[in-house]
Amino acid sequence: MNRRRMLHALKAAQETGDYEDAAVLHEAVDPQIYLSRNHLPQPFHLICSKDTVLTQLSGGAHLTLRDSSVNSFRMTVGDIVYMPAGTPHRIVPTEEGVCLRYMPLAAGMIGAVWYCPGCDAELWRHEWEHSNDSPAAGFYADACSRFNADPGRTCGKCGADHPAVDLAAYGWQQAD
Ligand SMILES: [Zn+2]
Repeated sequence: MNRRRMLHALKAAQETGDYEDAAVLHEAVDPQIYLSRNHLPQPFHLICSKDTVLTQLSGGAHLTLRDSSVNSFRMTVGDIVYMPAGTPHRIVPTEEGVCLRYMPLAAGMIGAVWYCPGCDAELWRHEWEHSNDSPAAGFYADACSRFNADPGRTCGKCGADHPAVDLAAYGWQQAD
């Protein structure tokens, strides 16, 4: 049974893209599972206000964590990573890979955070209330658009500039 589900997820993943986090289970199932097929680095660190779990179904990725006793994970096929609430984390694929995220329906606040490439200070963050009705990618697109337009991309501490996110590369539909 699990094997069959896994194959369905890989098939469905052919139609998803980078960090799309497309909900794949019936809308009432808690926790919900979100599907992505990543090949670009995640353009920000994500913060979830509830615990989440990430699994790697294919390919591989380097997972970078902040504010955690563990700084990084190397994710290969079958790996499962428990992400405590409030831990900023960023997925950097080492090869294209399908990733599942388990998240409760009452997911609360979600945040995207950027850090300075020069001194590592937090540059900017955008937070929103998770919606079970709107695609996550729309919120990611909105967060990146705001970041791109914000003077906060220049670090107030060391003066380094964080490059803008090349939104077109991710192909996300902006939220209404
Ligand atoms: Zn800096």
